[in-house]
Amino acid sequence: MSAAPTPFQNLAVRSLAAVWHPCTQMARAAVVPPLAIARGEGPWLLDVEGRRYFDANSSWWVNLFGHSDPGIHQAIKDQLDRLPHVMLAGCTHEPAVTLAEKLSALTQGALGHTFFASDGASAVEIALKMSFHSWKNQGLAQKKEFICLRNGYHGETIGALAVTDVAIFRDAYEPLLMQAHLVASPDSRHEGSEALALADLRRTLSQRQGQVAAVILEPLVQCAAGMVMHSPAYLRSVRALCDEFEVHLIADEIAVGCGRTGTFFAWEQTHEGLSGDPVKHWPDFITLSKGISGGTLPLSLVLSTEAVFQSFWSDEVARGFLHSHSYTGNPLACAAANAVLDRFAQAQVVAQNQIQAQHLRQALAPLAQDPRVQHWRQRGMVVAFDVVGKHDRFAERFHQAARQHELLIRPIGQTVYVMPPYLIDAATAQFLFEGIRRSLNEVVHG
Ligand SMILES: *Cc1c(COP(=O)(O)O)cnc(C)c1O
Repeated sequence: MSAAPTPFQNLAVRSLAAVWHPCTQMARAAVVPPLAIARGEGPWLLDVEGRRYFDANSSWWVNLFGHSDPGIHQAIKDQLDRLPHVMLAGCTHEPAVTLAEKLSALTQGALGHTFFASDGASAVEIALKMSFHSWKNQGLAQKKEFICLRNGYHGETIGALAVTDVAIFRDAYEPLLMQAHLVASPDSRHEGSEALALADLRRTLSQRQGQVAAVILEPLVQCAAGMVMHSPAYLRSVRALCDEFEVHLIADEIAVGCGRTGTFFAWEQTHEGLSGDPVKHWPDFITLSKGISGGTLPLSLVLSTEAVFQSFWSDEVARGFLHSHSYTGNPLACAAANAVLDRFAQAQVVAQNQIQAQHLRQALAPLAQDPRVQHWRQRGMVVAFDVVGKHDRFAERFHQAARQHELLIRPIGQTVYVMPPYLIDAATAQFLFEGIRRSLNEVVHG
């Protein structure tokens, strides 16, 4: 006689029958069933039977201040009772206006125009379309090509996938995709790679002179490729090349924005030591999503410059940017984002993160000495390392082992990383270290 399924098993089985899980081979999910989560409290996720898991990847990098943050929840509840939604064409509302104003101020007015959408991939689509259309409105319709980086990730809709270079997401759809130019990735794991990457970019820009609309990249950390890092100096050189060849620069800060790398925008780290007109030192577009609503509601947006905005200004309707999504600028999501930005201002989140990043460094750095580990690296609240050798189904096995140590962690290939909520103190950093060390011991015998 077999035992009745537990509530945990029951929900997992129903889920596998009815829910098609994202980024998942469903046949594998039958072997490694999804965690049946009932509640979230701070950095912890609690399953339906009361076991807990530390959300070390911030639920796909969206959750900045932990789950069930009372301040963000209150902002959503207040907005819910006033106005859950209204269309943003022909109407406007306080949460959207306030949010756009705040984001403009965070870029010293350099990126003073906010276009709203719901998911990261749609923000990327918008930036690509806007760049092309802006050149077209200026009589330069031949500027219609895009340059992206090896290892880059910009989302999985067809346009965003075209500028993405992660084989596992891309290969099946290759025949459907517009052709973009791939240039070498700056990858701190390989010496000299930044110089090579810049030379490759210069070569491509000069070969395609007059045909390129924009370069798109993830500043400082190429996250989805496995936390591949580069320096602010590389980004400064890219900005200069984009100016030289008169192409737009799209900084996709969907993952690295909102304080993740040690500044509110990762791009700000390129400003150190620069003087003069700040407007010149920003990208032409920044995309934001993920953390902006603190892990509560889907929201994405594209920030753009005065020059881009002006290129659409006309009596002619078709010269306008006519893109839209039904939930564009949703007031609940904007209210959540405003609460997130208020938190940054009031709690000095960026300064606090520097302390938290130091806790992570101290606790996790011993892993760098482990012979099974290579390329230990950190940028702000992102810590990663690669596991040496080839290990069958490493990511899945590590993930399963970590669950047993109350840790929710999903390696990318053989890259183990933590990207935790901004709630790290010495004790939680030590907890992460212990969980990772034990999981590693179980999966890779030293
Ligand atoms: C997650 C991500 C996206 C796509 O965002 P979705 O909301 O998943 O569509 C785009 N760019 C980067 C850099 C991302 O990390």
